[in-house]
Amino acid sequence: MKRIAFFCIPAHGHTNPMLPVAAELVQRGNTVRFYSFDEFEEKIKATGAEFISCNTFLPELTEQEETALKNVSTTEMTVQDFRITLRMNDFLSEEFASFEPDVVYTDSVCFWGKLNAWKHQVPMVVSTSTFAFNQLSSQYMKNSPKEMADMIFGLPRVSRELKKLEPYGYHVKSFFSLIQSDNRTDSIVYTSRKFQPYAESFSDHYAFVGPSVFSKTVPKKEKQRPLIYISMGTVINDRPDFYRKCIHALKEMDVDVVISCGNTMNQKLLGTLPENVKAYPYVDQLDVLSKADVFITHCGMNSVSESLYMAVPMLLYPQTSEQNAVARRVTETGAGTLLQDDSSEGIRTAVQQLLDDPAYSKVADEYSRDFRACSGTAGAAEFIENAPHTSNGIDIMSELNKENTKFQLLYWLVVIAVINLIGLTISWKFVWVIAVTASVLSSPIGKARQDRTYKRLIGKQRR
Ligand code: UDP
Repeated sequence: MKRIAFFCIPAHGHTNPMLPVAAELVQRGNTVRFYSFDEFEEKIKATGAEFISCNTFLPELTEQEETALKNVSTTEMTVQDFRITLRMNDFLSEEFASFEPDVVYTDSVCFWGKLNAWKHQVPMVVSTSTFAFNQLSSQYMKNSPKEMADMIFGLPRVSRELKKLEPYGYHVKSFFSLIQSDNRTDSIVYTSRKFQPYAESFSDHYAFVGPSVFSKTVPKKEKQRPLIYISMGTVINDRPDFYRKCIHALKEMDVDVVISCGNTMNQKLLGTLPENVKAYPYVDQLDVLSKADVFITHCGMNSVSESLYMAVPMLLYPQTSEQNAVARRVTETGAGTLLQDDSSEGIRTAVQQLLDDPAYSKVADEYSRDFRACSGTAGAAEFIENAPHTSNGIDIMSELNKENTKFQLLYWLVVIAVINLIGLTISWKFVWVIAVTASVLSSPIGKARQDRTYKRLIGKQRR
């Protein structure tokens, strides 16, 4: 029996999938101590884990910082993560000394969990509440110019804050080593290999256990008329404008509508609800999904997984780059369609299309069966109990990186040779055109070659 320390940031989407894992570990006789925040106390205690409140370590935020966090600024989230790590330093040193955890189970962006596992040399398993993102799968994530600007201009601030951790024994090579999924870190991902993009590029250190849910309910779709469920998740859900458009779109249709509009929005902003629409601050999402026929979703990873688990086709309305990546994967599978036109008319047409075409629910049903065949919370618990793990297979990412370096070297040697040849035999006047063209082409050529090499390597691995 093990002593396991759980760490998570104060966010539903990150905490929720860890809860059934905690319950499973407790049921198997392990001691679980969950370091979290007061709003999750009840849910954590219900798993049988010991709840430790970390609320006192949350820093006071200025108005500017609060706005940046609301807008999901990566820089602000990172800086606040570092600050909490520093504030928790003494407390966690004492906790590691007294609790003596055998394993740390930490969310992938909960830096105080990761950094303390490294500092105190305790085996660590990372809980990944999105897809696992490495250099290949992150191609699914197209950052908007605003997100890019936030990250680029925020880098000096992030490096400054990172340096402050050094004197406390937190040695981090770079910010990226803290956030990226690498092939040596034991990680649990709450999806299946079938749904994870570039799944074969992840080593045996990854356990794809399928959605982590309490309910094993199977979908029950028999009812008088279709049910449309709408949710924008728990973070950026203050969207009365969008809910109003949905209400206007669906009020005349022969459907029932349930909207989960979040705790912060004033529900009066939705006006008088038509007879077929109900709105709540929070619902039992899995229960609603088990009866739903279409889910209008912001494409949070948990929401999409739960939707597929309950075989519900989706109308995809992503708001961030991470949600865009999830939406792209859903459209690839055919279990949903992107909401291109978010006017009332556009919403009505898209919902009708999803209701009329059985191809969408057929794919969603396939994924429901695939997810239910995964090892689930029992698999996750076993993986944590047996950490640290070793890997025997080939590490496709390191092979790929070696090949990429070789290719880039060769590419630029050829470019230099061509430049010299033209310069020496014809003229040096226009060789800059070749240099510029080669620079512009190096990225798409490199990517195409990388994809070809990836396919070759997975072919080799399967043999
Ligand atoms: N959720 C819920 N009831 C609600 C709204 C959301 O239970 O009314 C849960 C949902 O089941 C999911 C999580 O909150 O597990 C939201 O996570 P997701 O990754 O989809 O989005 P986020 O809130 O992190 O943007």
